[in-house]
Amino acid sequence: MNNGNKINIILCLVILVLCGVICVMLYKGNVQVEQPTPTPIYATATPNGDPTPTPDVHMTPDPTAVPTDVPTGTPTSAPTVTPTARPTYVPDDTTDLTDVDLSNLRVNEAGDLPIVMWHQFSDADSPNYSTGTRQYMNSFDYLYDLCERLYNAGFRLVSMEDYLNNNITIPAGTKPIIFTFDDGVSSQFSLIEVNGKLELNPKCAVYVMQKFAEKYPDFGFTGIIYVNLGQGVFDGAGTVAQRLNYLIDLGWEIGNHTYNHTSLKNLSADQIKYQLGKNQEAMESYVPGYKLKSLALPYGEYDSAMAEVILSGTYNGVSYENKAVFLVGAEPAHMTTSVNHKSFVPRIRSTGYYEERMDFEWWLANQPESYWTVSDGDPNTITCPANWAKYVTTNLPNGQVLRTY
Ligand SMILES: [Zn+2]
Repeated sequence: MNNGNKINIILCLVILVLCGVICVMLYKGNVQVEQPTPTPIYATATPNGDPTPTPDVHMTPDPTAVPTDVPTGTPTSAPTVTPTARPTYVPDDTTDLTDVDLSNLRVNEAGDLPIVMWHQFSDADSPNYSTGTRQYMNSFDYLYDLCERLYNAGFRLVSMEDYLNNNITIPAGTKPIIFTFDDGVSSQFSLIEVNGKLELNPKCAVYVMQKFAEKYPDFGFTGIIYVNLGQGVFDGAGTVAQRLNYLIDLGWEIGNHTYNHTSLKNLSADQIKYQLGKNQEAMESYVPGYKLKSLALPYGEYDSAMAEVILSGTYNGVSYENKAVFLVGAEPAHMTTSVNHKSFVPRIRSTGYYEERMDFEWWLANQPESYWTVSDGDPNTITCPANWAKYVTTNLPNGQVLRTY
């Protein structure tokens, strides 16, 4: 081989290596573009105090997965696709469901459910809608349209109380979902006075959901609003006591959000007891005997060393007990009968002015369908495919029994 050939071969090798390096660099660049980092604003990828990685079956879905039938778009856009309704079955006696029925209905009560976190509402053409903290703002039309999409996708509202007691009574084949609202603002719920009578304000989320439930009664009409009774709550007509009682009479729930909307992160045990116990004390002054049974953490913040005093304590002779404490981000929650259930439970932020990774539209599009909890219609039986049984606690409440298929 002469020197000329040697130089040619060396040149070829150098060019091949360079091509390889360039290809690797391009590939890495593409991967970074396809995998945006989680939103820094609201949905912290790792919820506070819950850094334990979720198990394999609850892994974060691949963000590049093909979206399901839930349409995306800005909140103002009317959904154009009606998702295929899941088959539903309303039995007189759920014990007559065969394994084939259960499989057809994709029953899985060892799955996860979305606990959606809402904040403010307004009309889409209101100046309120397009200014301020838009990621915490939804239009009334969006709320109604979303309820319709959720209904068609087989979701049914359950109360926080039923979730905490694992009393899932929605029909076989439907999926539980919980709506939570933070801060007790008037666009969530408020009253007006008509001819001396208190009525629901048509410009509030509860009114919109009531209208929806009139059309689709089996969607359910319930939710929980986390309030700070040390500041204004449900501003509008009526006294605070009248407002709270009106909401409770509708079948809705009130939860604790601290007395002054204070972050619990840097508080002493006594300060935490004040924030939680004082709110409970105020609640009972308005609605005697009413117990706030869960807490939504302001800003999702707390110090894990204080977990015990956050869960229960006493202030001024008034005791409080939180069966669950809700975080701000950012993934579906386990059922309370899951071996992975903890007292500190994640929620999913409703999609605001624009969509973000790990907000609710994102989860609707990306969560594998088989991961959602699907009811068997029987609150006394926890039913799941055999390979999911390992996620169900052996310590089931209220004499509930496990059924696998
Ligand atoms: Zn808040």
